[in-house]
Amino acid sequence: MCGIVGYIGDEQATPLLLNGLKRLEYRGYDSAGIAVLDDGKISVAKAEGRLANLAATANIRGNIGIGHTRWATHGGPEVRNAHPHLSKSGRFAIVHNGIIENYKELKYFLELRGFEFVSDTDSEVIAHLIDFYYVGDVITALIKAACRLKGSYALGVICSDEPKLYAVKKDSPLVVGLCEKSTFIASDMQALTDKTRNFYIMDNGEIAVIGKDARILNMNGEPIKKSVYHAVWDNAVAQKQGYAHFMLKEIHEQPQAIKRTLDAHMNSSLDFLDGINSIHIIGCGSAYHAALMGKYIIESLTGIRVNADIASEFRYRNPIIRGDDLLLAISQSGETADTIGALKIGAGRCKSACIVNVPESTLTHISSPMYTLAGPEVAVATTKGFTTQLLNLYIIAMNLLRRLGDDRYKLLEREIYSLPSLVSKTLALEPQMQQLGVRIAPHDYAFFIGRGADYAAAKESALKLKEISYVHADCYPAGELKHGTISLIEKGSIVVAIATDRALLDKTVSNIIEVKARGAFVIGISCFDLSNVCDVTVNIPRATFVSPLLATVVCQMLSYYTASARGCDIDKPRNLAKSVTVE
Ligand code: GLU
Repeated sequence: MCGIVGYIGDEQATPLLLNGLKRLEYRGYDSAGIAVLDDGKISVAKAEGRLANLAATANIRGNIGIGHTRWATHGGPEVRNAHPHLSKSGRFAIVHNGIIENYKELKYFLELRGFEFVSDTDSEVIAHLIDFYYVGDVITALIKAACRLKGSYALGVICSDEPKLYAVKKDSPLVVGLCEKSTFIASDMQALTDKTRNFYIMDNGEIAVIGKDARILNMNGEPIKKSVYHAVWDNAVAQKQGYAHFMLKEIHEQPQAIKRTLDAHMNSSLDFLDGINSIHIIGCGSAYHAALMGKYIIESLTGIRVNADIASEFRYRNPIIRGDDLLLAISQSGETADTIGALKIGAGRCKSACIVNVPESTLTHISSPMYTLAGPEVAVATTKGFTTQLLNLYIIAMNLLRRLGDDRYKLLEREIYSLPSLVSKTLALEPQMQQLGVRIAPHDYAFFIGRGADYAAAKESALKLKEISYVHADCYPAGELKHGTISLIEKGSIVVAIATDRALLDKTVSNIIEVKARGAFVIGISCFDLSNVCDVTVNIPRATFVSPLLATVVCQMLSYYTASARGCDIDKPRNLAKSVTVE
């Protein structure tokens, strides 16, 4: 996960590196650090915790530098483990995003040759290894070191012998930002949208050598001709624009995000659906919940078999993949390591596609992209990213219905077109959610229940509450609670029941009555009247197919206001990072 940046130009590097890191802080915030080169000397500044701690102390001068915001994988979140790491001679400084899987073996190799280690990280071996191979030519040393590394890495490197900035990439994201008089490197384009719209998107096995100009080389040291990618995102989206948190802003951006995504896909042919007989949808975290909801939606409407899987499980369980299957990966960032790994399992065995928000990210290069046009999502907890993923799954279901000659596609189409306005009406429930958030805030745990697609909505809603408010939440299919966990329900326990499916309403109502009988305080979320069975009813706008999506929007607000009442750091929950680029 981690975010890396680098700068070379005429200006002082420190403020530019800190600015880039601020925009990458969502990728990790265990520690931060920078290294700056000035007149053949590298100076380093590091601090534990948030970037603000580094910004308050970092005062190093020079026009070339690298920076890092860390999500620790190897070694605790302490200053000595913070990047950049220096080589023994002090000649090289490196920042690393990824995991070096053979670091123990390399450490042993280097220790035998007199290299001493000062951190517990896997990354430090990279700095020493480059130094070990250095005999006056940085590019050769980088290539030799890279050939010894197993695992994933995006690297920023500076050397005290040369006024240049180097970058190397394998399986972790890296871009080169091209400005008129300067050049940046960064983990993603979002870090640099206030600096440039022009990028080289680095591929595996490429090295960037940046001095007066930026050259891209392959692992034989030969130049590669890269085309420049022009990003179109608006810089304003990376600002809070008056909202207390990015999450709240992003919740409110959903009607426009949905409208943009809908306009992009409603009339597209979705060729990746040609000739398929069943679908595996894979994702992690909320993207897995979107996959699960996709299973309910697509299977029940089209009769096409759908398997929803957690990517980290799918990739290691020898899944049955047939030639007429579609492997559909979902990832906001397009860089989720487990999802990329899972998609690669199916490479060459069946068709593959991805639902991704970030343009030109790794998944979009290895499968057919169906973008969500949510715009940059900064808050770690996904909102507009998730609902636009769901929208794409509804559009896939509609497309399949049309191919099957099933007239219900018209009904679904009508409802999808009204989704931006249905979401706007749902957002009007915000004051009620604010009150309910205050009601939930003193509790240590809550239960979420639902049936069918509402179960998937309940799972996503429970996750949202847990990740940002730290109120533990358990989610069950409503009919499953009595098979064990109902023993945890006692007087005053919070139960959130999502019941939007008319066909399952009576069954879910029975389950609500069961928990009520044991003293639970039940919040019902429904487009039907549940006031006679629930303590509080949240009435979402009347809809059919998209109602579970509307229920998740309600629960985004509920989680937000619970976390707010508990005084949590909403945009950056502890231990988490947004883009999980490690296994
Ligand atoms: N493995 C490195 C560390 O723990 C980098 C972590 C990452 O990229 O998430 O410092």
